[in-house]
Amino acid sequence: MPIQLLPDILINQIAAGEVVERPAAVLKELVENSIDAGARKIEVDLEQGGQRLIRVRDDGAGIPRDELSLALSRHATGKITSLQDLEAIGTLGFRGEALPSILSVSRMSICSRAADAEHAWKIEGSGEIAGDGEIQPAAHPFGTSIEVRDLFFNTPARRKFLKSPATELRHSDQWLKKLALARPEVAISLRHEGRRLFDLAAAVDETSRDVRVAAICGDEFMSHRVALDQSRLGMRLSGWFARPSFSRASTDLQYFFVNGRSVRDRLVAFALRRALADAMHSTRHPAFVLYLELDPMSVDVNVHPQKTEVRFRESGQVHDFLFGAVQQCLRDLRPSEDQHQVRFSSTPLSSSDHSRSPGLSSSNWGSRAQSPSWQVREQAGFQQTGWALMQAEQQRLGSAEESADGRVSPEMQHGETDHALGRALAQLHGVFILAQNARGLVLVDAHAAHERVLYERMKKDLSAGAIPSQTLLSPEAISLNEDAADELESRKEALALLGLDIDRGGPATIVVRAVPPILAREDVSSLVASLAREDGREKPHVHLGEVLDTQSRVLADVACRAAIKANRHLTLPEMDGLLRDMERTELADQCNHGRPTWVQLEMAELDRLFLRGR
Ligand code: ADP
Ligand code: MG
Repeated sequence: MPIQLLPDILINQIAAGEVVERPAAVLKELVENSIDAGARKIEVDLEQGGQRLIRVRDDGAGIPRDELSLALSRHATGKITSLQDLEAIGTLGFRGEALPSILSVSRMSICSRAADAEHAWKIEGSGEIAGDGEIQPAAHPFGTSIEVRDLFFNTPARRKFLKSPATELRHSDQWLKKLALARPEVAISLRHEGRRLFDLAAAVDETSRDVRVAAICGDEFMSHRVALDQSRLGMRLSGWFARPSFSRASTDLQYFFVNGRSVRDRLVAFALRRALADAMHSTRHPAFVLYLELDPMSVDVNVHPQKTEVRFRESGQVHDFLFGAVQQCLRDLRPSEDQHQVRFSSTPLSSSDHSRSPGLSSSNWGSRAQSPSWQVREQAGFQQTGWALMQAEQQRLGSAEESADGRVSPEMQHGETDHALGRALAQLHGVFILAQNARGLVLVDAHAAHERVLYERMKKDLSAGAIPSQTLLSPEAISLNEDAADELESRKEALALLGLDIDRGGPATIVVRAVPPILAREDVSSLVASLAREDGREKPHVHLGEVLDTQSRVLADVACRAAIKANRHLTLPEMDGLLRDMERTELADQCNHGRPTWVQLEMAELDRLFLRGR
C-alpha cells in the first residue's frame, strides 16, 4: 500500500481510541472542560449508562460563535500557547483533542452562549462536521451544553467492548465523584434516565465541604477520618485519611489529587500504603481523600492521554514527604478514646444491626466483621506458648509494674483506676481481658494487643541499631525451592538486622542459626518459609522502600507469632503489665492486621442497657 495521509476523521478516531474508551471518559473530558471554563454549576444527564446520551450543561464562560468549529478541530485549545505553558499547566485540559475525538465516534452537539453574546449558537455533527459546520442560532443561558449521543455508533468493534449500562454508569459515577472532590466549590449533579443520583451543592465552608465528602465517602469514613495538613519543601499535603481500624476490601475509597487533578500513581499508592497499612491486614486497603499541591513545574502532567497519571521530577522526595506526613499524623493520634467507645442500643437484641454481636454496635466491631480473614488467620496461630518470654522481655526493659516474683506493686493494690486502660479484673474465655477504668469497662483482645506491643518494641530496637538475636542450640535446616533460597540468601544482611541469622545450607536449603529472643520457642521453619513466599510479591521500586518494607513485614510476622495465644491463662499482674505496655506503645489501638485491640464500654451505656437511671 502506498504511503498516504490519513483522513481527519480516522486520525481523530485513532486518538479517540486512547482518550475515549467508554462513556465515563467522555463525561470526564466534558466536565473537565466545564471546570476549566470557570463553571459554578455543572449538571450531567445520562441515558443507558451514557451509551445513548451524555449531556453536560454548565454556566461557564461559553464558546464564542467563531470558535465553535475550532473547538472541534484537532489540537485546537484555548488553554496553552507555548512550551512554558505546557510545563506549568493550571487547567485540567491542554491537549486540545478531547472534543474532536469524541465527535469522531458519536453524534455530538454543542450549544453555547459566551458572556458577551446576544444569544447562543449551536453546532452539530455525526463523526465529523461537514465543511465549516452548520452553525445555528439557539436558545441557551450563559454557558455551554454538550450532548454526546450514540457513542461508538460508527465503530461497532468498540461498541462491543462496552459493559452493561449499570457497569458503565458506575464508572461515570466514580469519575464524577473524583471531580466533585477535586472541586468542592462547584455544584455538581448526576441524573440517569431522569432519576437523580446525586446533587451536590457548592461547598462554601468547612461544613458544606464535609457534607460533600460524606455524600461521596460515606458516614463510616467520616467517623474514622483524621484531618491532615502539612507542608514541607514547597509541597503541601492536606485532606483526610481513615484510621487504620477502617479499611476496605478494594481501593475504591482512595482519592488522591495532584494540583487539583485526580491521579493514580504507583509511587503515591505505595507511600500511603506503607504509611497506613502498617496496622492493616495485607488483604485490606486504606481509605483516604488527599490533596497534594506542589510547584506545577515539578510535576509533568503530559504523560498519559487521559491525563490520569503524572510524573514527579523528585519522586523520592514526594514519596518521603507523603509517607512522613501520614506517619506523623498517625503517631499524634494516640490515644483516641472516642474510637474505642462501644455503644449499646437502647433496645438491645432487637434491631437488625446487632446480628453480628448482640447488643453491641460500634465502628470497631463493624470493621472487624468486615474482614473475615482475621478470624482464620488468628485461629491458625493459636498455640500455647510465648507468655513467659514476654514477661522476661518486659523485665529486661524495666517496663513491668509487677515485681520480679510476680507480686502486685503497692501502687496497683490500691485499685486506682486512673490509668487510661484501667486495672485488669479478669480474663474472658482465654481471649479477652476485662479491665476497669474511670469511665467504665475496658475490653482488650490480648493477642492483638500483645502483637502490637511487640511489633513496636522491635521497631524501636531496630531504629536503635539492630534487634538482638539469640543463637539456636542446634541450627535448623529448612528446605525450600531454589529460587526462594536464592531470594532469602540475597537478603541475609537485612534479615540479620532483624535478629535472624541465616546461611545457605545447600541448593534449596537455608540454615537458621539465630533468631530474635522473642521467637526462641517458636516454629522458625514456618516463619522462614512464609518470608520466602512473601518475597515473591510484586513491589514497586522505590529507593528506600525495598528493605524497609520487607523489614516491617518480617517484624509483623514475628510479632504475630510471638504474641500470646488464645486459651493461655493470664494472671492479673500479667494482664496489668500488658495494659501498661499498651499505654506506652505507639499505635497501640490497632494490632498489625488493623483490628482494634481494645474497646471502651462507658458506665452510662451500661446503665442504659439495664434501663437504670443514674
Ligand atoms: P482542551 O480541553 O485540551 O483544550 P478540548 O478538545 O477538550 O481541548 O476542548 C477544546 C476547547 O474548547 C477548549 O480549549 C475550550 O476553549 C473550548 N471548550 C470546550 N468545552 C468548553 C466549555 N464547556 N465551556 C467553554 N469552552 C469550552
Ligand atoms: Mg478538554
